[in-house]
Amino acid sequence: MLKIYKLGDEILHKKASMVPDFDQTLRDLVEAMFETMHQGDGIGLAAPQVGVLKRVFISNVTGDEPRVFINPEILRTSIEQSTYEEGCLSIPEIYADILRPSAVTIQAWNERGKPFRFDAEGLLARVILHENDHLNGILFIDRVNAKKRKRLVKLYDRKVKNGCA
Ligand SMILES: [Zn+2]
Repeated sequence: MLKIYKLGDEILHKKASMVPDFDQTLRDLVEAMFETMHQGDGIGLAAPQVGVLKRVFISNVTGDEPRVFINPEILRTSIEQSTYEEGCLSIPEIYADILRPSAVTIQAWNERGKPFRFDAEGLLARVILHENDHLNGILFIDRVNAKKRKRLVKLYDRKVKNGCA
């Protein structure tokens, strides 16, 4: 189990750097991330959330295979958008409706250095965009207006930070 960094930790607002080597250290990180994500009942997790500022994220959406994305690049997003209530292992207990493109085309490498490209839609597309945001230091609450974000942070402070959850 890895420590999950929470809202308020600086690392969540930093831009992650490219993974230079597809080595055992990377594969160990990915394996530990899957354990941590499953333990937290998450469907996606990005390396900065566990304190590693590298461009790595994973997903495991119900009905889909577990996926690993190294050095990902979003090649295309649909014009069509949809709203869905998102949460995040780094901001427990907090949920908000977030508007995002409904479909994406992504290119990335897996943990063994094999490149791939595919189209995703629905929940998987949403998870990909949410996790990719983490690599750029962006949290889902950064995608609501300032007033609503302030309210969510306040709610988080009350519920989680002060231990009243
Ligand atoms: Zn998240």
